[in-house]
Amino acid sequence: MKVLIADQINEKGIDELKDIADVVVQTDITPEELVDSIADYDAIVVRSRTKVTREVIEASKKMKIIARAGVGVDNVDVGAATEKGIMVVNAPESTSITVAEHTMGVLLSLARKISIADKSVKEGKWEKNKFMGSELSGKTLGIIGMGRIGSQVATRCQAFNMEVLVNDPYITEDVAAKLGAKIVDRETLFREADVISIHVPLTPETKHSIAQEQFQQMKENACIINCARGGIINEEDLYQALKNDEIGGAGLDVFEKEPPVGSPLLELDNLVATPHIGASTREAQRDAAIIVAKEIKKVLTGESPKNVLNMPVMDPETLLLIKPYFELMAKLGKFLIQTAKGNINEIQVTYCGELAEYPKLDMLTRMILQEILNPILTEPVNLVNAMAVAENRGITVVEGKRCEVHGHDSLIRVEMKSEGNNIVIEGVSNKEPKIVVINGYKVDVETEGHLLISSYQDIPGVIGAIGTKLGEHGINIAKMQVGRKAPGGEAVMVVKIDQTVPEIVLDELKEFEHIYDAVVVNL
Ligand code: NAD
Repeated sequence: MKVLIADQINEKGIDELKDIADVVVQTDITPEELVDSIADYDAIVVRSRTKVTREVIEASKKMKIIARAGVGVDNVDVGAATEKGIMVVNAPESTSITVAEHTMGVLLSLARKISIADKSVKEGKWEKNKFMGSELSGKTLGIIGMGRIGSQVATRCQAFNMEVLVNDPYITEDVAAKLGAKIVDRETLFREADVISIHVPLTPETKHSIAQEQFQQMKENACIINCARGGIINEEDLYQALKNDEIGGAGLDVFEKEPPVGSPLLELDNLVATPHIGASTREAQRDAAIIVAKEIKKVLTGESPKNVLNMPVMDPETLLLIKPYFELMAKLGKFLIQTAKGNINEIQVTYCGELAEYPKLDMLTRMILQEILNPILTEPVNLVNAMAVAENRGITVVEGKRCEVHGHDSLIRVEMKSEGNNIVIEGVSNKEPKIVVINGYKVDVETEGHLLISSYQDIPGVIGAIGTKLGEHGINIAKMQVGRKAPGGEAVMVVKIDQTVPEIVLDELKEFEHIYDAVVVNL
């Protein structure tokens, strides 16, 4: 076996590999040399310098695994590797402690004004009265995003005798309780926390999710820390809040534009800034090298690795059988994550009719989990790691066979139990994917475009009221259908619209006495 180390990694990682393979360290290898020599190797380790392009992957002959000693895999053509059946692994957990410790550093610097006091002493001053600080003990920490890093920060703050509140709609009470934290809604967190620390990925949902409205909800002395990703905090609003002493201080390791040249934030004394060094420690780099070396060892000795980011293609016969359901699973997953309310506790997938006899159905389950989890997690969730990621997050995944097919040859039923609601949808894939049942109501919904789904009491006037409200806001209805079990009881309406429905319109709809709920799903 032969392993190429193409970028500089910690010696410990190299040593780990020496027992099972010939290790060639060539950290100045050029792209041309890489293409010429890659056919000799069973595995390659890179950091961010070496680009493992499609050309490199196609030139490989016996490559089994590409390892990125770090987190992001922008420099690896994962698609090309997947097509060629080569696993791609990374080391997402290698930086968690490092980033959590950096967050603590920023927090202590804010509480005790360390960086600004340091600057003052070095300027020859001795301003003892200017730097009155505050203790952390007895204060409340609010964590937004209780994943790998958020939970490490929680543990460290508990050692400082802080109470921990958490807002993370995708973790369960159980997971939070094990970490000694209490789940609260965002508004409660902003109102009650003395320190707010952000540990969510940057997604359309989290982008600028901390802005003027949130700063106004915070305590006068509250501090906010972002060691996650630039863009989650609206920096203009943060500047105003800090400048006008609406909040106590802020600590930023990340900025929307990096470096933040010319940002007025940098003029403020109540801001602690660091240049995106949250993950920069020798230990994190060492751990990344050791983690990926162990992954390579496993693959080259026939065991299963842990952090696989892709999935080698399956045998052509199985692929042909289950491929028609890929799009349906993706659509059902997209539908479910947009209708979930709060922590997801359980996902049940039931395969019914002819489909129940097909092999490799777990692949379809993985596919739906990938759609549900990807929008909310930083790490890429894929067909290989989907089950493990769900399990780690306390989500029970149940697979079953046999249910009512309502006249179709095959049908897939998915039930998602979240803290705030239970949704059951059933879908079929005949010529195209369709949803045929929503919460027990028969429908016939094409899985594309924007859908408004309302549950309401089946009495005269409600359908008209929904149509009128949409019309008032210039939202055109393309198609409408209703499903009900009995006249006068609860019914469901699915309206296909030409554009998405703003939150404010949904709130207005929910104010109608006979409308129980209204959500928009963009497929
Ligand atoms: P993770 O995937 O383990 O955790 C993210 C958590 O955020 C999950 O628990 C998820 O449920 C939660 N979440 C998602 N959307 C949410 C929302 N809208 N509201 C509340 N919670 C939400 O990720 P991680 O490894 O802990 O990384 C956290 C952040 O730190 C990421 O943004 C990552 O890019 C960043 N990071 C920064 C550095 C640095 O150098 N400063 C280094 C590594 C990671």
